[in-house]
Amino acid sequence: MSRFWSDVVSRLSPYVPGEQTDSKTVIKLNTNESPYGPSKKAIDAISRCVGDDLRLYPDPRCLDLRAAVASLEDLSVDNVFVGNGSDEVLAHVFRALFKSDQPVLFPDITYSFYPSYCRLFDLSYEEIPLNADFLIEIEDYSKGNGGVILPNPNAPTGIDLGLPSIRRLLESQSDSTVVIDEAYVDFGAESAVVLIQEFPNLLVTRSLSKSYGLAGLRVGYALGHADLIEALHRVKDSFNSYPVDRLASAGAIAAIEDRDYLNKVRLDIMRSREKLSSGLSALGFLVLPSATNFVFVRHERLSARSLHQELRQADILVRHFTRPTRVEEFLRITVGTEEIVGEMLKRLQLILAH
Ligand SMILES: *Cc1c(COP(=O)(O)O)cnc(C)c1O
Repeated sequence: MSRFWSDVVSRLSPYVPGEQTDSKTVIKLNTNESPYGPSKKAIDAISRCVGDDLRLYPDPRCLDLRAAVASLEDLSVDNVFVGNGSDEVLAHVFRALFKSDQPVLFPDITYSFYPSYCRLFDLSYEEIPLNADFLIEIEDYSKGNGGVILPNPNAPTGIDLGLPSIRRLLESQSDSTVVIDEAYVDFGAESAVVLIQEFPNLLVTRSLSKSYGLAGLRVGYALGHADLIEALHRVKDSFNSYPVDRLASAGAIAAIEDRDYLNKVRLDIMRSREKLSSGLSALGFLVLPSATNFVFVRHERLSARSLHQELRQADILVRHFTRPTRVEEFLRITVGTEEIVGEMLKRLQLILAH
């Protein structure tokens, strides 16, 4: 605390990301990054951009990247907003589309950035409990609100929701914006993008950080009706005209256009996920059914805190959310390559043996 701080800063409780490390010996399974690099075509496109043109600002409307996303999603450029990672896109969503007269609704167990944005933008919120099986109960969202946001699949549970439930939510909420955060949708869930034409209150957000292996490039986007996208541009242009730099735009376009590479990575990760899930079950873990590139697990006997520490001593980083909740005994483990999964299970077996 300092007397120079603004009122809002004193009241913030910032999101704490998982630890980053440069160590080459650590197996890093704590922030849901891809174990594969991005498409080689993305790396080549970025290299081609490194040159004198960097003296020039990028296109503030980001038309080339928005056109690439629009063509991928079968929408028009007016339906696409891009930003510096989907976290930035989400920040603009909270500012531009959520109202402060009633609480913003999201699950009690979900992406912990949502309450941080509410505090930053002075929005009240209500956390709607998942049911005893950690599922979202759509009927519980039928109440007055300033907006609704859900990740699909949910994080950190990894469990996905079918389109019929999302459709029911949209029908019951025609007066507020409903945001579906699809950061993990490429790993097996159904996308809500097909509902955009029908529902003017639906906004879908996506990230290139997980399935595309581009967490370091910081690119995310939002899809929705043109007037929702216009609201995001109004906030963006009141904050930063150039959130996506020249290298990021070129790399993102090439990555998006390389469909074969994305499909290969998705299938590899989904295959490894099954190996990780069955391996963990065999070692006494409860494994929630995952449609993502991570699994959320609890051991029958050992505490999450001690397992987290022992894994760290064995050079494996996983994520433990220490805030006291009903999931404090869970660990979130990112799916690696089959080789990484094998190594992780081997070290875990040694830990459990003593
Ligand atoms: C990783 C993640 C994001 C943010 O992704 P970036 O594009 O890296 O900012 C958003 N929502 C959820 C649920 C995530 O897990």
